[in-house]
Amino acid sequence: MNIDQFTEVISACRFCFMCRHLSATGMVSCRESDTPRVRALIADTVRKYPEKLADADFTDAVYRSDLAGANRFHCDGYHDGKGYDELGLQLALRRDIVDAGKEPEAVKKLADEFEATASWQVAGSGDLLYFLDRCTAETPAIAESFGRLATKKGVAFRTVTGGCIGKVLRVLGYTERSKAAAKKFAAFINNLGAKTLVVSNPAAYDALVHDFAEYGVALNVKVMHSSEFLTGLKLDFKRDGETVYELKSDFLKNYGRNALYAAELLGQLGVKNETFGHNDEESYTAGEGAVVLQQLHPELVNMLAARVAEKAEGLLVTASPYTRKVLAETGLNILTFEELADRKTR
Ligand code: SF4
Repeated sequence: MNIDQFTEVISACRFCFMCRHLSATGMVSCRESDTPRVRALIADTVRKYPEKLADADFTDAVYRSDLAGANRFHCDGYHDGKGYDELGLQLALRRDIVDAGKEPEAVKKLADEFEATASWQVAGSGDLLYFLDRCTAETPAIAESFGRLATKKGVAFRTVTGGCIGKVLRVLGYTERSKAAAKKFAAFINNLGAKTLVVSNPAAYDALVHDFAEYGVALNVKVMHSSEFLTGLKLDFKRDGETVYELKSDFLKNYGRNALYAAELLGQLGVKNETFGHNDEESYTAGEGAVVLQQLHPELVNMLAARVAEKAEGLLVTASPYTRKVLAETGLNILTFEELADRKTR
C-alpha cells in the first residue's frame, strides 16, 4: 500500500495532538476525525486491516481534509528542517482508497468530470504564455488586471485557456490519470514554442513545477507564478501605505515554500501587510489545498469561509483565485495580487 511509505509519520502522528489547530477543517467542524491524529489512526488501522479501506466513515474523513499542509513546517516533531509529512500520508491514503476502488461516488464523478476537460485553446501572440485555468477564469477581473499590467510594460503574451492539467485528479488520489493529463498538457505547451509560462493559480503552479517533475514530465518553458512575474516588471506603484491582510496560499507557503515573491510584490506595492488571524501558522484559505472541497463538501467550505469572515477587517489579499472566489462570495473585501497591483499602478 502507498501508506507503507509513511510508517514513521503514522507512528508519530497517531498519538500526537500538537498540530490539531492547523487542521482548518477540524477547527470548524470540532470533529476529532478531522484532525491529523485521527487520520493517522485511520491509516494505522488500514495497514492492519486493509478491508477497512471500504469503511465509509474512514473514506469520508479522508476526503473532508482541507489539505493545507500547515503542519509540514509547524510540526512538534520538527527536525532537520522538516516536520512529519502528514500531508503526504493523507494523499497516500487517498491513493490507496482509489486503488482499492473504494472511493465515494462523488469523488469518482468529480474525477471523470475534470478529466473530460483536458483540452486547451490559445489566443494572442508572444513568447510568453499566460495559463488561465478554469478556477482563475471564474473571476475575469484577475486576467483583465494581468493583461493591463503586462501591456503597461509592453509584454506581449498568448493566453492559454482550458481545463484539467492533472491537479484535481492527483488530489483525489488518481495518480496515473493525473500523470496522463500532465503529459497531454506538456505536449500542448511544448508545441507552442514559447519561453515562459505564467500562471495565477498556485494550485496550477504547484502542479506544473512539483507534480510534473515528480512524474518526469518535461516542460520546455520557464514556469512562473504571477507574483514572480509581476515583481519582475518593476512597475511604478502608488505606494500609499494602505493596510492589507494577506491570506497566504497553502500551495505557495506549505507545498513549495516559495511565497517569497508574494512578500516582495507587497513590498513593491508599498502596502502595510498585517498578520491575519491568530498566528502565521494556520491556513485561512478556505480549503485551497483540497482544490475541490467546495464541490465535495460545500458545507465545510462555508464554515471555513465564515471563520475567515469572523476575523476579517480591512482589505484581504491573496495569491489564490480559489480563496478570492470563495471569500468574495461571502461578501468579503478581497483581491488577488494582480487586482491589487492593477489598482495601485500609476
Ligand atoms: S504532524 Fe507533527 S505535530 Fe502534527 S500530529 Fe504529526 S507529529 Fe504531531
